[in-house]
Order: sequence, then C-alpha cells, then structure tokens
Amino acid sequence: MIRIIMLGAPGSGKGTQTQLLSKYFCIPFISAGEILRQEIKKNEKNKNYIKSKINKGKLVKNSFIIKIIKKRIQKKIYLNGFILDGFPRTIKQAESLKNQIKVKYIIHLKVNLENIINRIEGRLIHEPSGRTYHETLNPPQKKNIDDITGELLTKRKDDNKEIIITRLKEYEIYTKPLIKWFKEEKSKNKIKYLEVNSNTSINNIHKEIIKKLNIQ
Ligand code: AMP
Repeated sequence: MIRIIMLGAPGSGKGTQTQLLSKYFCIPFISAGEILRQEIKKNEKNKNYIKSKINKGKLVKNSFIIKIIKKRIQKKIYLNGFILDGFPRTIKQAESLKNQIKVKYIIHLKVNLENIINRIEGRLIHEPSGRTYHETLNPPQKKNIDDITGELLTKRKDDNKEIIITRLKEYEIYTKPLIKWFKEEKSKNKIKYLEVNSNTSINNIHKEIIKKLNIQ
C-alpha cells in the first residue's frame, strides 16, 4: 500500500512527477487543481467561486477543498493507495487529512524561481483530461496537439507572470508553514518526509524520487 503526498511551489513539477509515479507504481492520483478545473465545467453552483479564486491565483477556502478531497479519497479505486497532487496546501488541510487517513510518504520538490517561471510560462494543457506538456521541456509529438486524442492544447489562464506572483505569495503564506508542520511530524517518526532537488530534468527528478522513496 503506497500513499504519497506531493508538495512544492507552483511549477515545481508536482503534476508531471505525479503522473510518472502513478505509472511507475500503478496507483491512481488525485490532483486538487484538476478536480477544481473540472468542477468549473460541471458544477454550475460553485463555478463562479472556483473560477474567481483560480484566475486570481488565490487558494480556495479550506472547508471547500477539504470536503471535495475527503469524499474523493473514499472511492474504491483509492483503497490500494494513491498520490495526492496539490493537497494538502495548508496546515488545516493536512490536519483534516491526518484525521481521515494515514499517508506515509511526503515528497517535497524544491525548485528555484527561474525554473518556476520557465515551467509555468511554457506549460500546455489538454483541458478535457488534464494532461500537461511543456513547449520545450516536455513537448507533444505534434506542436500544440495532445498525443493521445489529437485535440488542441491550450494555456492555463493562471499560468502567467502576474498571477504567478500571487500564487507564489499564497505558497509562502500557507504552504511554507505546512512544510514545517510535516518536518515536525517526521521528527515524531510518523512519516517519511523526503526533499528532492527539482531543478534538473524530468527524468532525473523521477529517478531521484524513486531512489529516495526506496520502496521494495
Ligand atoms: P494547481 O493545478 O495545483 O496549480 O492548482 C490551481 C489552483 O487551484 C490553485 O492556484 C488554487 O486556486 C486551487 N487549488 C488547488 N489545490 C488547492 C488546495 N489544496 N487548496 C486551495 N486551493 C487549491
């Protein structure tokens, strides 16, 4: 049974590495950001609220995301393990998760500002599936076309220099303290908190994560 949390600033490679780990260990993943983007499309009631938060680069309310993730984790497909991408992002979220289920592995992807900007500015997304690419670092086979469906790739609205500043501020305010919280949990010997240098290539980061997880 493998349960993993992916932590890191926007553009640290959480989504990309989550997809690789999911394939490697054959376990499903839950992406908080992706769930919210899909909610915008299907949930008329909450559509405007989520949209306004995401497009400003602000986190949605704790109670809102906690409710969604709590329900999602209970699904049968996650019984044999899962990877959480983008949740928890605050101490409140982590405490609520802890009360529901024990997650052993925390992977913190550490990245510098230059790479954050570069990765976010070049990111492409296949909206219906959430698959992501990068114009140069992880390009699709055909320019701007999704490898699997042949459909057009787009840019996320919040992937621009102005919004990224707010997203990074939110990270500093809410997620940095969470990292300290996880380190304290680690010292109580409850979890495995692993830091990985995320300034290298997609493949190297993946190898480094596998090595550090050291799961036989
Ligand atoms: P991401 O796809 O992980 O970059 O997330 C995109 C946006 O979704 C974030 O900027 C937030 O507005 C929202 N979001 C994603 N995960 C969370 C979370 N755990 N708590 C609050 N807001 C979130």
